[in-house]
Amino acid sequence: MAKIIQLSTHVANLIAAGEVVERPASVVKELLENAVDAGATQVTVEIRDGGMTFIRVTDNGCGMDSQDAKTAFSRHATSKLRTAEDLAAISTMGFRGEALAAIASVSRIDLLTKTKDSLSGTSLQLEAGVITEENEAGCPDGTTIIVRDLFFNTPARMKFMKSDTVEGGRVAGAVQLQALAHPEVAFRFLRDGKEVLSTPGTGGLEAAIYCVYGRDGGKMVKLDSHWDNYTLTGYVSKPTDARPSRNLQTFFVNGRPVKSRLLVAALEEAYRNQLMVGKFPACVLHLNLPATAVDVNVHPAKTEVKFLNEKAVFDCIHYGVLGALNKTPDRPQMQFKPAPKAENTIPAKPAPKQESFFRTMTAQEYKNFSAAVAQAPKPNPEAAAATAKTIERTPVFHQAVQLPDLKPEKLAQIPSPAPQQPAAKAEPEIPQTEPVQEELAMPQVQPWRFVGELYNTYILVEQGEDAFLIDKHAAHERILFEKLKENPESISSQALLTPLPCRLSPEAVSLLLANRSLLAHLGFEIDEFGDNTLLVRQVPMDLAPEDVQDSLDLLAENLQNGRREKSSEVRDEMLHTVACKAAIKAGWKTDEKELLVLATAVMNREDLKYCPHGRPICISLSKKQLEKQFKRS
Ligand code: ADP
Ligand code: MG
Repeated sequence: MAKIIQLSTHVANLIAAGEVVERPASVVKELLENAVDAGATQVTVEIRDGGMTFIRVTDNGCGMDSQDAKTAFSRHATSKLRTAEDLAAISTMGFRGEALAAIASVSRIDLLTKTKDSLSGTSLQLEAGVITEENEAGCPDGTTIIVRDLFFNTPARMKFMKSDTVEGGRVAGAVQLQALAHPEVAFRFLRDGKEVLSTPGTGGLEAAIYCVYGRDGGKMVKLDSHWDNYTLTGYVSKPTDARPSRNLQTFFVNGRPVKSRLLVAALEEAYRNQLMVGKFPACVLHLNLPATAVDVNVHPAKTEVKFLNEKAVFDCIHYGVLGALNKTPDRPQMQFKPAPKAENTIPAKPAPKQESFFRTMTAQEYKNFSAAVAQAPKPNPEAAAATAKTIERTPVFHQAVQLPDLKPEKLAQIPSPAPQQPAAKAEPEIPQTEPVQEELAMPQVQPWRFVGELYNTYILVEQGEDAFLIDKHAAHERILFEKLKENPESISSQALLTPLPCRLSPEAVSLLLANRSLLAHLGFEIDEFGDNTLLVRQVPMDLAPEDVQDSLDLLAENLQNGRREKSSEVRDEMLHTVACKAAIKAGWKTDEKELLVLATAVMNREDLKYCPHGRPICISLSKKQLEKQFKRS
């Protein structure tokens, strides 16, 4: 084995840099934390080329004297930790004393700093961690640090960097986090010369959220709860404003942004049964607890935490959020209990397993089900003949022709609903329609009857011994999605009479602008308007103007989450978003003709039992199940 040698400081710093300095965003995070620790009330971040060539952070904090300025760049140099005991009760952001050393080892640095008490400041230049110049300098109180040419001496690391847009986006994320962590500090962020974020620094979290989350920030519910010596404050989204991802879930523990499955689980538990599959709450939550109850020293980048009492933390978040949402912990769910047994009766055989009342059919189950129905013996020749006749009359719908374009002028072409039959009539009624021109193989569909609509949301259909509840929004969304997917080139757009200003988060604005051509494909024409606002000139045909802002927001989120390499997936996500926004909504009053078209589409296509995101379109309820409930069987 080779001889053991002590690593040079430079090599040690490079190794540390690998842990602490992953990308421009991690540099910015460290520099911002230092500024906040220095007591700054105003911090400006500027980057160029995604932060790869230039990062400048200017603060008006306490500054450093010339000696401290130099020591700050040596490894394990910190003013925040003196003894091992201090480690247990850390309250500043930094404490390891390795950030500056690590950053300096992989870049070129200019530092300008001055304390209030001294007349002049210090200017330092470093290259790859070595001080190359030191001067006295006139400068304002506080610190300015410029990091140039990140990873210039570690080409291997450089290879891992993504495009400037992606890296710049991550930097924006880091600034946003600090802005949400410290509403008392005014943050400004400039990207390639343009201001993309500016928070007032007046101390109100709501104002900071508004600046960072954009419009969504205005709709959140305030939370302020205490649990022993734990405090939980912040804002959470209403269940109705759920997001398509966890992007807007931000947690701070003692002021430090953290990632924690425990916190996410506790938050989402409070929304249980209130959100659709694939929807997530948004939050900015500050959890404060005694420094000794949490260990932040788990991860070098310090985004992971370990709690001493996980149960207490979970409860604090769970009940705190529930309280804010004004909900009782466990709302009773619709449940059907088995009928109470009469005394002295012994069941002849074990009771059948309790099945949930409503249930969703899987595509496979539906296949089996229709096959079974098709093979089932006909009750009697007469009925069989009637059924055969009605099947003949079953409208043949071609997908493309049949897609419900719910515009008034299109409605005329849509078949009228069957006249409502008195309940007593035994024979199922079939919608009376003329088959459309195109001839297709007729699907073998059992006759069914449109019964009506429940809660302006569910279409009720009867088919043989089964009832189906069809979620009209989900059905329409799926159908529109397919239409868009089949032919995305042809998404027709409508020009808005007056361009619509949409205020979004800085990240959303830059992502959308960077993907203008993709948006044009989807029917959107957007322009930059400044102040985190886009001017929307054209929108997809089916989209109502009041849904434009939401759609853009979601599209930005798709872009942010979507992996660049899989552009087809991103496109699908985007199409889905447009479809979702353009579809009729639950709770809306919908023309019966439209409902009938949707019901027909679903009843004719077993694959429509599922929407692209796994949310059910249709659930079934059998006559047997009902009979059991009414104790008829
Ligand atoms: P840590 O923050 O863990 O102490 P750093 O390497 O980030 O380690 O910083 C080393 C030291 O440099 C800090 O402890 C602090 O004393 C000083 N320092 C760094 N940035 C600033 C700043 N913006 N203003 C004042 N002092 C600073
Ligand atoms: Mg630090």
